[in-house]
Amino acid sequence: MKKKNAERRKFLNNVVKLGVGTLAIGSASGIASEPTPTSKSKIKVLTTDGKVIEVEAPANDCKVNPCLPTKGDAARIGIPGRSFVMVIDLARCKNARKCIEGCQRGHNLPADQEWLNVYLMKDHDDAEPYWFPRQCFHCDNPPCVKVCPVGATFKRQDNIVLVDADRCIGCKFCMVACPYSARVFNWEEPPETSLTSEDYSPETSSPGQIGTIGKCDFCPDRSREGKLPYCVESCPMGAMYFGDKNEDAVTNGEETLRFKQLIKDRVGYRYLEDLGTEPNVFYLPPVERMFDYKSGLKGASEEQQKIYDDVILGNSKKE
Ligand code: SF4
Repeated sequence: MKKKNAERRKFLNNVVKLGVGTLAIGSASGIASEPTPTSKSKIKVLTTDGKVIEVEAPANDCKVNPCLPTKGDAARIGIPGRSFVMVIDLARCKNARKCIEGCQRGHNLPADQEWLNVYLMKDHDDAEPYWFPRQCFHCDNPPCVKVCPVGATFKRQDNIVLVDADRCIGCKFCMVACPYSARVFNWEEPPETSLTSEDYSPETSSPGQIGTIGKCDFCPDRSREGKLPYCVESCPMGAMYFGDKNEDAVTNGEETLRFKQLIKDRVGYRYLEDLGTEPNVFYLPPVERMFDYKSGLKGASEEQQKIYDDVILGNSKKE
């Protein structure tokens, strides 16, 4: 709790320093961690001249912007006024895989079900390899949505692409359409949980359902509570930033930065951008890396090590 409060203070500090517009701190942006306001509570807002002030929260805010994961139409529409985005700093990733663990724990996924993975990449023979986390990119022009015959997967106004497992018939068309292999098929029942089918919401994707499709959901239920996605919160390197394009701010929980300036300064790019899918996940190139890629090979099985050696690093070709 102490740590959380310290982080919140840091966030406030950073946002103030940045002077990001007039930002309701504790709103549903997912970049602040105050509880969503009730009709009698106060909320902190940032003024245009960079001061944090307290004002009375709007009455019945939860009616406009439900505090809990929603179902039905509200889950399909999304959080009003938000334009969620993620930025991954490849210079900081060392394949700690804590993001994967956090995601699996948070979504109650089986051990072999990964909505996010970290790949070893090497751009050309003379380049140093680097670690590359990859999940659903929540594309603005998502081929997966276009091919779903039952409307089970959909794009929301806040940028998030979700799957409604209650509608999904498991045809796998979306898996084939996604050029990033971001979707997985639920071949087995999820681990036991206290949640029942009544608790299911496309916003939590839990409890999972056998015979349907799963994928990264950007944790919109957590955004509604002012929390960061599980992966962002779990990354010990601070390699993942989450935020709102409308507010022009992203945070990794430790530091908060202007989104546009970050992309400009660090030459941010989108993976396979020429496909026209318009992803909402941006990468910062792995320049001035904080870690040697080899530190991320610790704990790899012999089989994995051989794949890295042969396929990625091309060592077998050199022999
Ligand atoms: Fe759809 Fe794949 Fe884009 Fe995610 S990454 S929105 S699954 S096309």
